[in-house]
Amino acid sequence: MSCDPTTRIFPDVWKSTFFRRALSETGKDYYECPICKKRFDYTQLGCLCGDHIWPYSLMGETSKKNYQLLCGACNVRKKDFVNNEVREVLGDGSFRKMVFNHITEHIDKVNIPHGMRLEDYVSLRSI
Ligand SMILES: [Zn+2]
Repeated sequence: MSCDPTTRIFPDVWKSTFFRRALSETGKDYYECPICKKRFDYTQLGCLCGDHIWPYSLMGETSKKNYQLLCGACNVRKKDFVNNEVREVLGDGSFRKMVFNHITEHIDKVNIPHGMRLEDYVSLRSI
């Protein structure tokens, strides 16, 4: 199941799909929050939240590629912050702001055709 990449909310059903896939990939009987490493079993699925790896506020799309499950506490703490790997590249200050300005300047979000993936749109525009 896919969804419109420009909507903010992930389909709720992705949570259990992602959870089950993570368990089968790791061979473990619990899911580990990628940030705080706290463990959750399936009965605690309600404690986990679907999260944009690349923040929605920075034009991150609502897609499976940009999806991760975080525990509620980390999700609240993270807000618009990005993963450590991304943060290393992006930084927290002026470079991040520049990237954001560049993206928003070059993409008029309103004009993205409904249902089109942001990365396809960007590659068409070749910024
Ligand atoms: Zn956590």
